[in-house]
Amino acid sequence: MSRLAFSNLRRREIIGELADQTFDLLVIGGGITGAGIALDAQSRGLNVCLVDMQDFAAGTSSRSTKLVHGGLRYLKQLEVGLVAEVGKERAIVYENGPHVTTPERMLLPIYKDGTFGRFSTSLGLYVYDLLAGVKREERRRMLSREETLAREPLLKKDGLLGSGCYVEYRTDDARLTLEVLKKAVSLGAKAVNYMKADKFLYSGGKAAGVEATDLVTGSRHTIFAKKIINAAGPWVDDLRELDRSRNGKTLHLTKGVHIVFDHRRFPLRQAVYFDVPDGRMVFAIPRDGKTYVGTTDTNYSNRMNMADPEMTKADRDYLLMAVNGMFPDLRLTEQDVESSWVGLRPLIHQEGKSPSEISRRDEIFVSPSGLISMAGGKLTGYRKMAETAVDLVVKQLERENGGSLGGIRPCSTKTLPISGGDVGGGEAYHSFVKKKTEEGVRLGLDSRSAELLARRYGSNVDRLFAGIGRYAEQGADSGLPCEWWLMLMYAIEEEMALTPADFFVRRTGALFFDIASVRKYKEPVLRVMREKLSWTDKQAAEYAEELDRQLRQAVEPVC
Ligand code: FAD
Repeated sequence: MSRLAFSNLRRREIIGELADQTFDLLVIGGGITGAGIALDAQSRGLNVCLVDMQDFAAGTSSRSTKLVHGGLRYLKQLEVGLVAEVGKERAIVYENGPHVTTPERMLLPIYKDGTFGRFSTSLGLYVYDLLAGVKREERRRMLSREETLAREPLLKKDGLLGSGCYVEYRTDDARLTLEVLKKAVSLGAKAVNYMKADKFLYSGGKAAGVEATDLVTGSRHTIFAKKIINAAGPWVDDLRELDRSRNGKTLHLTKGVHIVFDHRRFPLRQAVYFDVPDGRMVFAIPRDGKTYVGTTDTNYSNRMNMADPEMTKADRDYLLMAVNGMFPDLRLTEQDVESSWVGLRPLIHQEGKSPSEISRRDEIFVSPSGLISMAGGKLTGYRKMAETAVDLVVKQLERENGGSLGGIRPCSTKTLPISGGDVGGGEAYHSFVKKKTEEGVRLGLDSRSAELLARRYGSNVDRLFAGIGRYAEQGADSGLPCEWWLMLMYAIEEEMALTPADFFVRRTGALFFDIASVRKYKEPVLRVMREKLSWTDKQAAEYAEELDRQLRQAVEPVC
């Protein structure tokens, strides 16, 4: 991929190229579902375009619990097939992107009078290991009360009988989405953020393209494609409405909130998945010097605000109640909440079911115009969802072509590393990080920064290291330390970042896990981005205000 193929510095040219051709496939939505589909289709040899009306991953795909998980909770709902599928998928996600997926041991504490006893937990985890095809070294272990407290001394002691210990995989959902999309672009796909598809174009009653608005300049564009997939997450029904095909099954949105504490205030050693008195389960997960807790699960009906759902006091209090119930010595209060995020689950409505009971399965709807809509599902199952969707597209194109399509290859994403993932999982990844950390130190970085870059960017870290020389000439006066400047340059030049929120929320996750640095570096980041991306005064003011609003919203709930 040329250095600026995925850069808003080349935005105008990239958009110009969209008008020149009829794509095989247009994907609307650059969350994990759309990114996965773009990669699958492009890697089979289809010519793909993807647009997102916000930044990539700005919808649900940067607002999840950030676990590539085996779906233990679905076992409770007896969704055996789903457990088997997502369990196998998470191993694939790990191998193809070890830099965005980290194994994390999780405790499932067992209490006298709790939902699960020792026997049922042991049996449940055994069945889970079996169904999900869990690696031998990651299979469940049952721990005594003493062993449990040795692992996590903060747990409530009253009534504690022991625990089950199993492995989940932690991810950075937004970076996972970006790495999938970057791989698709490196293979030739076109992808543009802040481009809203707002009208379908038809030929002979069949969807043949869209009119789209560039939300940065207001200019209008036409994109033609043989097939169109609606991967708009919570907005899937809005696009079906636009296509006049919103009937039959519809979406059911539920809201999930997470809150973040500093690790010094909530020094959790070990991730825990625990019961809450209302019968739900909540995660507490240590990460990058913080501990985050979530999630809530409540119906959401404010269709006027789907881009930016807010945390209410009730959401925050529910999570504080949950966490203080399980870790009573901490006495956490609202003052301890350092950041938060809120996401909407785009689930498929099931009559009479509560938010937590609704299935997380994905489904495809094909409208009379041929618009393919994909909804439901999980981050974890993105690759398999994409395979199913692209199988359908290829079958339809073959039928319309009167037989087979020349040059189209079978799905290969099971073994296709995503961008930055060309290092292999397990030991290979650990030695890669070690080697690259040493290299970064030789190039002048301190070892903490070098390691952070190696871990976060995987095999793309060389692109960042290559900028170290440039920092002395162009970045040293910016007010940013070297590693921040390198990340910012990479985000602008190779990851299509356009606004400070793109950088601080979805390229680095700093708004959630390092909010102090956002406050510290926001002015220099605004200055550098303004100069590099030639913002107008109006844009500079809008983007600064947007970042301030996100900073406020992360800590201040609405009533
Ligand atoms: P989105 O990420 O929302 O992407 C849709 C995109 O479409 C958006 O970026 C939007 O801007 C764009 N769009 C909409 N309309 C238009 C238009 N007209 N033109 C152009 N673009 C448009 N899954 C897991 O596997 N593990 C977890 O730990 C997990 N935890 C979760 C916790 C919470 C609280 C929530 C809410 C979800 C969680 N999930 C988890 C589920 C997972 O996050 C979602 O299934 C997934 O992110 C959905 O991705 P998506 O691409 O379908 O939607």
